[in-house]
Amino acid sequence: MRHIVAVASGKGGVGKSTTSCNLALGFAALGLKVGILDADIYGPSQQKLFGLRGKPRLLGPRMLEPLERFGVKVMSIGFLVEEDNAMVWRGPMVISAITQMLREVAWNDLDILVVDLPPGTGDAQLTMAQQTPLAGAVIVSTPQDIALIDARRGIEMFKKVNVPILGLIENMASFCCPACNHVTPIFGHGGARLDAEKRGIPFLGEIPLDMVIRQTSDDGRPIVATDPEGVHAKHYIGIARQL
Ligand code: ADP
Repeated sequence: MRHIVAVASGKGGVGKSTTSCNLALGFAALGLKVGILDADIYGPSQQKLFGLRGKPRLLGPRMLEPLERFGVKVMSIGFLVEEDNAMVWRGPMVISAITQMLREVAWNDLDILVVDLPPGTGDAQLTMAQQTPLAGAVIVSTPQDIALIDARRGIEMFKKVNVPILGLIENMASFCCPACNHVTPIFGHGGARLDAEKRGIPFLGEIPLDMVIRQTSDDGRPIVATDPEGVHAKHYIGIARQL
């Protein structure tokens, strides 16, 4: 594969997986050959976001075939374990699972592999940073201070291990009421842009908080695949284009 782009966040629940999924679809919409590796071992969601069921086929003794939907190849630990099963794994097992999903999956000749990292600054992030030639990391945050503080920690971690920061995305940036069209910045507004400017990191864009993004994600038909010409798809495709 030509480029590996990690999508990271300091905190959980800020929309990192949703953004990774739609970003991967955004790259595909630009005509690139794309794969997504769900490295969020303790809380995999890409199988659900892509509406995929079933298990990857074994192509050889140590080679799995990724599943594919909407033109994107997908590999997630979520294909291999039951939904209600907890992954009670120590660091070395997490590292080994991620390494296997990188090396023992027939990704073939991808232009871009998007990696949905778990939140925080732990073993998975270090494995990716140290064992793979990452093109860089994209950081997702909400505009809130509480999320941005942890996002900054993530940025520092990538800097320490010499992974370039490709930019910051502000997710859930504002909410437009579908009943009255009033725009409310539920989690504040502009915090991530300001932070990116302060740190000299590219600001990649804002994605609004919108029920359609949540609904399409829950239905396994992500917004960029469902409505590629729509306003939300344009946000994600616009960010993919900048990368
Ligand atoms: P994370 O990967 O950071 O834990 P998720 O991508 O799982 O976060 O998102 C958490 C929840 O927020 C999900 O229910 C998802 O559908 C929803 N969500 C994420 N981004 C948006 C958005 N821009 N608008 C509406 N809902 C969103």
